[in-house]
Amino acid sequence: MKQIMSVAFVALLAACQTAPVQTPAAAGAPVEAAAVVKPSAGQQWLFGSAEASVIVRQTWETIADYVESKAAEAPTYGVVLTPDSSPVQPGFLACEGRPLAAVFDADETLIWNLGSMAAFERMGIGFDPAIWDEWEKTGAGKAVAIPGALEALARIREAGVTVIVNTNRAAENAAGTEATLEAAGIGEFSHGSTLFLRGDAPDGTGKDGRRMMISENYCVIALVGDQLGDIADPFNAKNLGVLDRKVLTEAPAISGLWGNGWFVLPNPVYGPSIRGDFDDIYPEATHWAPSAASELPAAN
Ligand SMILES: [Mg+2]
Repeated sequence: MKQIMSVAFVALLAACQTAPVQTPAAAGAPVEAAAVVKPSAGQQWLFGSAEASVIVRQTWETIADYVESKAAEAPTYGVVLTPDSSPVQPGFLACEGRPLAAVFDADETLIWNLGSMAAFERMGIGFDPAIWDEWEKTGAGKAVAIPGALEALARIREAGVTVIVNTNRAAENAAGTEATLEAAGIGEFSHGSTLFLRGDAPDGTGKDGRRMMISENYCVIALVGDQLGDIADPFNAKNLGVLDRKVLTEAPAISGLWGNGWFVLPNPVYGPSIRGDFDDIYPEATHWAPSAASELPAAN
């Protein structure tokens, strides 16, 4: 049963851009404790494994190295796409003379939401927006900094670069998110100044509007998140299939930005990265069958 719930959890959150936002579970529904609580494979990997800890620490080191190097160059262009451009034909905002900033998503980028994730698992539900809303308000102290983040943020700040958070947590819950980030050691943030939330711009869960707002005052030299919407909204275009989306990240004009201004951290627990049919994941040209199997069941 728990495995079924975990799969449902992944599927539900696959449609989300950043923080989980959809569920059929009713708020206030009776809570029945699961007999055996076993985290999903994605949760085991991300939140529990030494391998994940190493990978994210490696990434944070790369981010800090890049920011230190870039800050020393006095850049004249940032890494935020202009509103009329795309990853295929990108334009970048000029920002000469503005103070430097690095922009980070919050959930599963700066912090791991261990408190809410564990609560959902223990309740045997995939996700509940009302409970998530309460988590945004009261979760301070129960979310932890991602391994390597605190050391990297210290280096980034030491380089004179302002740390800004752009998250799809709700603007109404700004105080709770500020408290959560501070309690995790990420730092002090101020809504509208160094913290930007869903509702601050008219494009809903899209983040390009908020990136424009931030860019009015800063030269953004790094964008960091666990989902491509943390980098640029065109990556989340609804008409993009799984393979198309991957190909878009390889567009020649922007492919060099990964690890060099654009950074992605792993999230195998929820989000738009977790989707795809059999043929999306396993190209036909790679299909293989053992000699003992005269015929494999059809995949679709
Ligand atoms: Mg996130």
